[in-house]
Amino acid sequence: MTLEAGVIRENYFRVLEQIHQAANRSGRDPTQIRLIVVTKGQPVEVIRAVVEAGAKDLGENYPEEALPKIEALQGYFLKWHMIGHLQSRKAKLVAQYFDWFQALDSLRLAQKLERVLTEQGRRLPVLLEFNVGGEESKSGWRAENPDSWPELLPEIEQILVTCPHLEVRGIMTMPPLTDNADQTRRYFAHSRRLRDFLARAFPSVSWNEISMGTSADFPLAIEEGATMVRIGQAILGPRPE
Ligand SMILES: *Cc1c(COP(=O)(O)O)cnc(C)c1O
Repeated sequence: MTLEAGVIRENYFRVLEQIHQAANRSGRDPTQIRLIVVTKGQPVEVIRAVVEAGAKDLGENYPEEALPKIEALQGYFLKWHMIGHLQSRKAKLVAQYFDWFQALDSLRLAQKLERVLTEQGRRLPVLLEFNVGGEESKSGWRAENPDSWPELLPEIEQILVTCPHLEVRGIMTMPPLTDNADQTRRYFAHSRRLRDFLARAFPSVSWNEISMGTSADFPLAIEEGATMVRIGQAILGPRPE
């Protein structure tokens, strides 16, 4: 069962209100926080409901699943964010159909994207994904220990130097889910320190964006500096099987 359009609309406005409140609590400008509605697993009718309510940025995890949705909703001038791990043989789809790629996690993938973007004459804003909780199941460069952050720099420098069609804009993280708000807050603060470290290492690149926080924890993420939150279930309901 998918949610009715009216319920989706209410959820969307409630989440926007919660984003405002979290921004105000932490003295931040709410207009600097972008809501990405995560639509993976949801049918076009559900997505249309949240778009009609005002959503402009949508997130998908699998390029093949996203393509028919992107085509069906073309008239709305949406921004599509690829937020899932990408296999390099799908790089072409992302280069062609998406507006942002949030899950760049290797030099090899960066160079594959660079080749297809060059062919297409396009540039693509990207976020580098880091694994801040050290979970084996998660993708992203391992970054749980600040002592090892300097070891990340040569590979990132290679991306910056050899991939001019990738516009690096910041980082993305997906910390482990915990019931402990203090622990969750520490993961978000850790992500922000990592961003600050990268900004010091490569000051000529814009590291403005920190994409972190999902339905479970986005207010904390905003208090700790998120500029993009990726929210699915809290707006669209559970993903249908
Ligand atoms: C599914 C997903 C989300 C959204 O999770 P919800 O629990 O639906 O808010 C955010 N980020 C990524 C990378 C995801 O895969």
